[in-house]
Amino acid sequence: MQVRYLDKSGMERIRVDRNTLDHISLVDEKQLQDKSRRYYFSETRNISSLDLWYSNLDLNMEHEQLVLPIRPTFRIAQPVYHQGLFEGIVIVNVDAGLILNQVIRSTDFEVMLIDGEGELLAHPDPKQAWSRYFSQHKNLYDAHPDDAFELIHSTKKQVNGIFKVQLSQLFKNKQKLQILLSPKKETLDSLLRSNLFSALAIALVVLLISFPLSWLAALVPARLQQKLSSALSDLKRSQDIIDRHVMSSSTDPAGVITKVSHKMCESTGFNKDELIGHTHSLLRHPDVKSETFKELWQTITRGDTWQGELRNLTHYGKAYWIEVVMTPEYDAAGELTGYTEIAQDISPRKELEKISITDALTSCYNRRKLDLLLATELERFIRYQQIFAVILIDVDHFKQVNDTFGHQSGDEVLVQLAASMSTHIRKVDHLGRWGGEEFLVVCPGTQAKEAGLLAEKIRCLIESETFSITHPITISLGVAQCQQGEEINQLITRADEALYQAKHEGRNRTVIAP
Ligand code: GH3
Ligand code: MG
Ligand code: MG
Repeated sequence: MQVRYLDKSGMERIRVDRNTLDHISLVDEKQLQDKSRRYYFSETRNISSLDLWYSNLDLNMEHEQLVLPIRPTFRIAQPVYHQGLFEGIVIVNVDAGLILNQVIRSTDFEVMLIDGEGELLAHPDPKQAWSRYFSQHKNLYDAHPDDAFELIHSTKKQVNGIFKVQLSQLFKNKQKLQILLSPKKETLDSLLRSNLFSALAIALVVLLISFPLSWLAALVPARLQQKLSSALSDLKRSQDIIDRHVMSSSTDPAGVITKVSHKMCESTGFNKDELIGHTHSLLRHPDVKSETFKELWQTITRGDTWQGELRNLTHYGKAYWIEVVMTPEYDAAGELTGYTEIAQDISPRKELEKISITDALTSCYNRRKLDLLLATELERFIRYQQIFAVILIDVDHFKQVNDTFGHQSGDEVLVQLAASMSTHIRKVDHLGRWGGEEFLVVCPGTQAKEAGLLAEKIRCLIESETFSITHPITISLGVAQCQQGEEINQLITRADEALYQAKHEGRNRTVIAP
C-alpha cells in the first residue's frame, strides 16, 4: 500500500500511496514526513546492503497516532548505498489486513494470531484483536490463563486441544508469530458423529471383508499345506519302499556309483560306503562275457536304455542273477548327469530255469534241453542251411557195472563220464543225458566227418580214463549229420542205428551214419 524512499537523515523523499486497489498516487512533497525516529529506519540502516529487513506485523501509525480504522501493516525494507556510502532506505508497506481476515475466517476453527508476548494480533471477534493497542482487548494470558505460557513457548503442536502453527519462517522478524487453532464445538461434534459413523462403517466393512479374507488366507494355505505334506509323506513312503525293496543305484557319467538303495546293499553284501565311489565292475561275475558289458556301455552312451540279465557276485563271492534296466539321466539343460540302474534279483528264477534244463545226476543238460537244442538247430538248418550233427553215446556193458559194483557206483561212473566229456567237447557243442547211460552231443555247424573225429576223441578219452571202480569203462558212439527234409527223430534214429552198428561190431568204437 506504500513504497517510500527515506534519505540518510530519515526524511521521506519519495512516497507512492495506494489507498484502494486501483488508486495509486505520488504524495505531494509538502506532505512528506521525518521518519528518522521510527524503528524501521534505525533498524534498516544497521543491516548490510544485501539483506532485507522485515518489520513486525503491526498497525499503521501516522504522526505517532494510530491510523483509524486500523490498518495492519507489514514492512519490508532495504538500505541503499551509493559509492559505499549509506544514502537511505527503500521501504514497502504491505496491507496485512486482507491476509489476516482470510486466516481467521474458518468455519471449523477459532483462529488467533499471537506474538511471542501473548498479544493477540488477529481474532474472529474484532474486539479481541490487537490487544497491544487496545487495553480493553484481552491478550492470551487473559483468555487462556492456564495454557498461555505453554501455548507461547512450547514446541508442541498441540496444547490442551489448541493447535499451533509457527509463522517465524514466513515472517522473518523477531515477533515469533503463531497461529492458534481451537476446533469449534460444532466441528468437534460433527467430527465425532461422522467419525463414529465412519468408524462403524469401516469396522463393518473390515469385518465383512476380513472374515472371508482371513478364512481364505488361513484355509487355502492350510489345505495346501495339508495336501503338500500328505503328498510329501506319500512320496517318502514310496521312496522308503523303493529303497527297501528295489535294487537301484545311480552313477556319474563315468559310471562311478554315487547313490545306492538299501536293498542293493542288502543283496550285494556291500555297505553304501563300499559301493559309492566304485564302478559296477566291483560286482562283476568273471563268467560274464566282456562283450555283454561292451554292448551295455555302447547302448547307454548312445542315449538308449539297456535291458538285460547279468550275473554278479556278492561281497562274499556268491553268484546271483539280476535283470537290469539301465537308463541315462539328463539335467534341465540336457547335459548327461549319469546313469540310473534298477535291478531285480532273478536268481531264484534262474535257479529254476537251470534245474529245468539240467540233469539232476550228472549236471549236464537233460533230455528236455536237448530236445530244445535240437529243435533250434533244425530251425537254423531249415532257415539258414546251417548244418549240424549229433553224437549218440552209450556206455558199454553198463548193466555189468551196476551188477558188479552196485547202482551207486554206476551213478558215480555216470557223473564222472559226464564231467570228463563236457570238458573235452568244444565250446559250441552241447552235451546232455539222453536217458539211462546214454548221452547226446549236439554239434552246431559241424559235418558228420568232423563230428566223427570229435566222437573218436571222446571215446579215446574215456577209454584211457581211470574211474573210481577197478573196471575199464568204454563207450560206443553213433554219429549222424542232419539231412535235408529230415525230422529230429529220423536223425536220432540214424545215429542210433550207427550206435547199434558200433555195438554189433564189438563196442568201444564210433560209427558214422551214411
Ligand atoms: P550194452 O549197452 O553194451 O549193450 O550193454 P548194457 O549193459 O549197457 O546194456 P543195457 O542198455 O541193456 O543196460 C543199461 C543199463 O544201465 C541198465 C540200467 O540198470 C543201467 N542204468 C540206466 N540208467 C542208470 C542210472 O541212472 N544209474 C545206474 N547206476 N544205472 C543205470
Ligand atoms: Mg543202453
Ligand atoms: Mg549200454
